[in-house]
Amino acid sequence: MVRRECFKAAAGDSIFVLNVDLHCHSNASDGMLSAAEVVRRAAADGVGLLALTDHDTLAGLPAAAAAARETGIGWVSGVEISIEWRSVQVHILGLDFDYENPALNAGLARIRSGRIERARRMGEALAEAGIEGAFEGAMRHAEHPELVSRSHFARYLVEKGICRDHRRVFDEWMVPGKPGYVDHRWAGLEEALEWIHGASGVAVVAHPGRYLFSSAALKQFFRDFKTQGGEGIEVVSGGHTREQSKYFSRLAKHFGFSASRGSDFHGPGESCIGPGALDPLPEGLTPVWSLFRESFLEPPACRRNGPDTTTS
Ligand code: AMP
Ligand code: MN
Ligand code: MN
Ligand code: MN
Repeated sequence: MVRRECFKAAAGDSIFVLNVDLHCHSNASDGMLSAAEVVRRAAADGVGLLALTDHDTLAGLPAAAAAARETGIGWVSGVEISIEWRSVQVHILGLDFDYENPALNAGLARIRSGRIERARRMGEALAEAGIEGAFEGAMRHAEHPELVSRSHFARYLVEKGICRDHRRVFDEWMVPGKPGYVDHRWAGLEEALEWIHGASGVAVVAHPGRYLFSSAALKQFFRDFKTQGGEGIEVVSGGHTREQSKYFSRLAKHFGFSASRGSDFHGPGESCIGPGALDPLPEGLTPVWSLFRESFLEPPACRRNGPDTTTS
């Protein structure tokens, strides 16, 4: 049974509001909680529809689906695919797809296979800059070694007292131009879209405000994404300011994209906001969840707190 939330509106009508979070991580990639714990935490925080979107892996999805059934929370499959476009790393979310699809699984396995080698090179780069033991330190934090990421290095650098927090590690060590950053070959945009669509899913650009693109390059990226069949962009994101949400709301309308909402929750303490703790989508946008195979727009089994206006 899918749980839907109803709230009584000021005017006295019963309206349907679903708290949707289509972007969060478990320790199947670089999150801190297990997949089941993420779902339970989201359910406890009032999320009504959730997608677990680990980086380049579907390993957490069966446990997340089972926990969603137990808690009664709405759930769709998810993944955050690392791609590169014009040499910049971009993240594409795949949502509501068949997670046993062979081509999608094989594509993700290929992206994962390069991560340990990249981590070794990051360890060497950091050693040259005077930080020893970073590869081993990062690997100790990675539940699944093949998903080792910059986040695991960040945890090691914080643990060693080299930086005070995660964000400073990125700013000072782990972004292009900094000593611990190493280039890597990720998937292409076209192939990521083929994998998602081949598995009957929907493709969304994750946190578009995070990329180091000029505004012209970002718009060109959106044009390419649209031309190749991409459906949506994350308008409301844990990584966006309110101004960015407004800006991407305008761009979603301009390009004809559906809009998504996601916290990018990685774990307590590390993420500033919890699952679902976000503004609602701005008015006038098409929610990306209206494209999902199951309808989450109506409250079929909803607890009604106010008068039932549907029968009057
Ligand atoms: P990777 O996939 O190894 O390149 O690592 C990327 C991950 O690092 C992202 O998924 C975020 O969790 C984290 N990350 C990237 N940039 C930042 C940033 N500026 N501040 C904090 N975390 C970041
Ligand atoms: Mn991450
Ligand atoms: Mn991301
Ligand atoms: Mn993410």
